[in-house]
Amino acid sequence: MVSCCICSKSFKIECVDVSNTQARKIHKKTGLSWTCKCCSQVGNDINELKEVIVALQNEIKLLKSAISTTSQSPTNSLLDTEKIIQEISEREKRKCNIIIYGNNEENKTSKNEQLAVDTVFVKDVLSSLSVTDNDNIKPIRLGKFDATKTDRRRPIKITLPSENSILSVLRMSKELKKSTRFNNISITRDRTPMQLELYRNTKIELNQRIANGESNLRIRYDRGIPVIISSKLPVSPTVN
Ligand SMILES: [Zn+2]
Repeated sequence: MVSCCICSKSFKIECVDVSNTQARKIHKKTGLSWTCKCCSQVGNDINELKEVIVALQNEIKLLKSAISTTSQSPTNSLLDTEKIIQEISEREKRKCNIIIYGNNEENKTSKNEQLAVDTVFVKDVLSSLSVTDNDNIKPIRLGKFDATKTDRRRPIKITLPSENSILSVLRMSKELKKSTRFNNISITRDRTPMQLELYRNTKIELNQRIANGESNLRIRYDRGIPVIISSKLPVSPTVN
């Protein structure tokens, strides 16, 4: 007879898969023990369950850390609100500004000299766009003045007297492309870094869609948000 080391039930040697040599060793208590079929199945099941439990424990750990990083703690939501307020005031500060791109700095050697030619240039651009209220315009070149560089074209920021002037300048600025003197000049709003990032992301999406074979797409601002629209050319009426 041989007995199971777990349930202690005894089995006839002939009935189980144990050789006589193994049975003798078990009887002599040489450290060799035997488990019946039923108990070894339970043992396997327990091992499988242990593995499942370990996997679940790891998953819980991951979920817990994910929750702690994304959870809206009172401090986090206050910080989010703070960021929104900052962004609003940043946009408010810039709402009467425009940025003029593409104007060469003509290699002026001093800041004052640069300011003088920029002022004349900006007034000329504005009057070509029918903005006459431009006596107090102070152009600011964005970025550092560096007389050693050639072909400088730092953007120029100006502040206009009202939001209405901004709207009319932006509307009229498309006409600059047709003029011979200002056809290299483009004008945009003074956008915040967040707005610029939004635009860049939209531009990436636009390029991907064009690469995937779509055509006639462009970006348009819809209530301040850049969106991709399909600008199908209107079908010209048939001439008889
Ligand atoms: Zn057993």
